[in-house]
Amino acid sequence: MPIYEYQCEKCHHCFEVLVFSSDDETATCPECSHRRVKRLLSSTCFIGSSGGSGCSKSAPKGFS
Ligand SMILES: [Zn+2]
Repeated sequence: MPIYEYQCEKCHHCFEVLVFSSDDETATCPECSHRRVKRLLSSTCFIGSSGGSGCSKSAPKGFS
């Protein structure tokens, strides 16, 4: 089953969501419970990262 990656538009936290059906629009940020998250088309957040915890550092500044 597909795993989609999302990034929170509020705190820029990246997280993965297992998608069982078309429920992907219901994803919420696990860090701040913000509902406005965007789905990433690729592993943008995890490029060059082995731990996957450096996500917020690589978030683009000025992003809104
Ligand atoms: Zn968040």
